[in-house]
Amino acid sequence: MKKNKLLFLAVLLLLSQPIVASEQDKILDPTIIPVKTQQPKEKKIYPIVIIGAGAAGTMAVKRAVLNNYEVLLFTGAKQEQRRSRGNWVKTVDNIPGLTEYKRTVLELRNEVLTRLFHSSLGYNLYVIEESVIKIEKKEDFFELTDGFGRTYYGKYVVLATGIMDEQPLIQGSIRPILKYANGQTVVYCVLCDGHRSFGKKTVVIGHLESAGDTAFYLAEKYQLASTTVLTNGQPHQFTSGLLKQLEEKQIKIFEAPIQEVLGNREEKRLTGFKLETGDVVEAEIGFVALGIRPNNQLALQLGAQVSEYGLVLTDANGETSVAGLFVIGDLRANSMKQIYTAWNHAVEVIQSIDERM
Ligand SMILES: Cc1cc2nc3c(=O)[nH]c(=O)nc-3n(C[C@H](O)[C@H](O)[C@H](O)COP(=O)(O)OP(=O)(O)OC[C@H]3O[C@@H](n4cnc5c(N)ncnc54)[C@H](O)[C@@H]3O)c2cc1C
Repeated sequence: MKKNKLLFLAVLLLLSQPIVASEQDKILDPTIIPVKTQQPKEKKIYPIVIIGAGAAGTMAVKRAVLNNYEVLLFTGAKQEQRRSRGNWVKTVDNIPGLTEYKRTVLELRNEVLTRLFHSSLGYNLYVIEESVIKIEKKEDFFELTDGFGRTYYGKYVVLATGIMDEQPLIQGSIRPILKYANGQTVVYCVLCDGHRSFGKKTVVIGHLESAGDTAFYLAEKYQLASTTVLTNGQPHQFTSGLLKQLEEKQIKIFEAPIQEVLGNREEKRLTGFKLETGDVVEAEIGFVALGIRPNNQLALQLGAQVSEYGLVLTDANGETSVAGLFVIGDLRANSMKQIYTAWNHAVEVIQSIDERM
């Protein structure tokens, strides 16, 4: 398997059906920020403003405060937090030292902010538990407006608003799948959770090429008991070459809509999917491969260049086509959608800003 194919699987770039946001909003509340930092000042120009407090934003705020800069951090309102990938990360197996956390990205954020706040450099930390809804470039600084209509200013802006995975609609709702996503028996990221499929009956949900690639990759790597692709009512878009590969691996494709997810949520057990045709496909683990939706609205407001998938293009330092606007984490184009990549972006960008101060 080529390296760029692995990257392709991890990124799952293609877009398809929209998220039913209002339903997702009701599920999995983000934890409250544990510290009340200094009252942010509206007239002041902060040297560094960070938008988003997931994996990338958390590392960026840590590095910037440790470098002794005043930092204004927007976590996003609850709605944005619930819709972020970071909010959905449970136990992380692919990074050393994190397996004890139950909601890794949120717990790390709270731990970092609490420690920074109580450190000798804590006076640098300003946190606003709101979303930025408008951003404009003025001469050599940025003007930001939050959800309450308050205005703030920053010399450098680091955008860490991430992306969200598309969800399958089952009987018109995303709820049936989210229950199992919560228990990590339905997962979204092959690089993070692919190993959980070892020896299991596995289902991949999706109709785009990336779903077929995911099924083939998992079958090839993890000695699956069975592999099935469910396109959930959509015609598949697999090339003849891919179809041949799937056939060689005895991977079945069902195009009928999913009627029901079978299993016991309380016991974190998935047993299969019932289709509208009456067929039951057995499964112990499911992978959703429907593409992503980038949280790129602020970058677009500033006219930053984006890729065909809406991810923001940057130079090697993480700076966008808009001078002074940097992007870190999943929202950045041409990079792995992983926690350690987000951390690396964050450190490199803050060091790069530091050199210009
Ligand atoms: C189910 C699941 C499991 C995963 N497991 C792993 C794993 O085991 N290992 C791994 O390496 N990766 C894993 N990932 C990938 C990982 O979650 C992402 O790579 C990582 O969270 C990206 O960090 P980020 O900061 O770019 O985005 P996020 O962590 O998603 O953070 C985005 C932030 O932006 C904020 N925001 C959005 N809009 C606004 C706005 N307008 N104003 C202010 N704030 C805003 C949100 O509130 C949120 O705080 C997993 C992903 C999923 C979906």
